[in-house]
Amino acid sequence: MDHLAEHLRFYQELGVTGISRDPKWRRREGPAGDPAGPVGPDADGRAGLPPSREALRRTAVALAEAGQAGNPEAGLQAGTTNDGAVMPVTFARSAVELLTAIRDDIGECTRCKLHTQGRTQVVFGVGNPSADLMFVGEAPGADEDVQGIPFVGRAGQLLTKMIEAMGFTRDEVYIANVLKCRPPGNRNPEPDEIAMCQPFLFRQLASIEPKVVIALGAFAAKTLLQTQDPISHLRGRVFDFRGAKLIPTFHPSFLLRSPGYKREAWDDLKKALALLGREIPGAAPSQ
Ligand code: URA
Repeated sequence: MDHLAEHLRFYQELGVTGISRDPKWRRREGPAGDPAGPVGPDADGRAGLPPSREALRRTAVALAEAGQAGNPEAGLQAGTTNDGAVMPVTFARSAVELLTAIRDDIGECTRCKLHTQGRTQVVFGVGNPSADLMFVGEAPGADEDVQGIPFVGRAGQLLTKMIEAMGFTRDEVYIANVLKCRPPGNRNPEPDEIAMCQPFLFRQLASIEPKVVIALGAFAAKTLLQTQDPISHLRGRVFDFRGAKLIPTFHPSFLLRSPGYKREAWDDLKKALALLGREIPGAAPSQ
C-alpha cells in the first residue's frame, strides 16, 4: 500500500493528470520496449531512487519523447496510444517546465490563512533548476516577502556566505522554503500551513532532483523527513531522502543568534561537499 501511495505521489510530482483503468493502458510498454518493471540504478550511478520509480520515470520520459517527436516507429503520438486510445498522461519535460508548472499551480495562493495575514506575495524559490545542491528553509521573512526571493535578509546574507564558503554561487544552487508565504511577525509555521504548502516543496524537489538537500533548521528537517524528532536528534546525521542525501543543519537565523554553532554548521556543509565529490575549502564562513 505504501508502494502504491509512493507511486501515485511520484506520478503527481511528474505532473501526471490522470491514470486510466483501461487494461490496454496498463499493459502497454514504452516505445523503447522498456516495461515499467524494476530496473537497477541510473547509468550515472545515482543509485538513490527506488528502482520501480526510476523505471516509471524512464518509461514516462520515453513516452513523452515519442509523443513529442511523433515517432512513427514507436506508434505513439502525444495524447494517444498506438491503438488510438487516449493516453491519459501529460507532463512537462524539463526541470524549468516542471517548476513553472508548480509556480502556476500555486498561483496567488489562498489555500491557507497566511494570505489573509499580511503576506505581500508568494515566495516560490530561486536558483538553478538542475542544481545538485538544494537548501530548504522555513518561511519567508519581511525582506523576502517584499522582494519575492527567499533568503535575502540578514539570515539570507549569512546563507549566501555559507554557500560561497562551499565554493558555490547562489545561482548554482537552488533555495526554497517549506512555506511560500510569510507568517505574520515571523512567527513559527503552523501545522495546517505546513500541511497545505509542503506538496509544492516536494514537487520542487522532484523536479530539481538535487543530489544533496540541506535542511535549514527544525521546520525544514522535520517537514522533509516527515518526523517529529527534535532537530538535536537530526542534526549531525546524513539521511537517505528520495534518491538524494539530506543533511539537517542549523538555520542561519539561529547561527546569527548563536554564532558559536557555526563550526558545527560548517561540519555539516563539509559533509555535503564530500557527498558531492567537491573539494573542501579551508575556511569556515565568517559572520
Ligand atoms: N528564513 C527562512 O527560513 N527563509 C527565508 O527565505 C528567509 C529567512
